Amino acid sequence: MSFERFGKIGFISETKVASFVKHLEDGKIMATRCSRCGKLYFPPRADCPDDLSTDMTWQQLSGRCKLLTYTTAHFAPTGFRDDVPYTIGLAECEEGVKVYALLSKDIDEKEMRIGMDLQVTPVRLPNSRITYELKKA
Ligand SMILES: [Zn+2]
Repeated sequence: MSFERFGKIGFISETKVASFVKHLEDGKIMATRCSRCGKLYFPPRADCPDDLSTDMTWQQLSGRCKLLTYTTAHFAPTGFRDDVPYTIGLAECEEGVKVYALLSKDIDEKEMRIGMDLQVTPVRLPNSRITYELKKA
């Protein structure tokens, strides 16, 4: 039993974008583009929320982006308590999509500024999981 059959219309089907993780492991940041309306989505979506098209194609992002805003958290939810303080940023990629991710701990708080050049970068975690962060370009 999966969520594929849940609800009146199927917006979410994680299995259809599961290869996003494989691409990350290969060092690629991938988005999906709707073949009908041309909109680009990151994180990738299996279906277009605008026109419900399921005809989506993968597109690799350059990862080049600029910081739009950021905030530093000193309290954290379960799973992130060992990481405080950490900084979450919202950046705009050159392809136009926005990326919401942690700022790399390599970036000193004094260096952080709106508009700085960043790079969306796959990061391996100690528990063999994988994620992406915003690193210095
Ligand atoms: Zn569309």
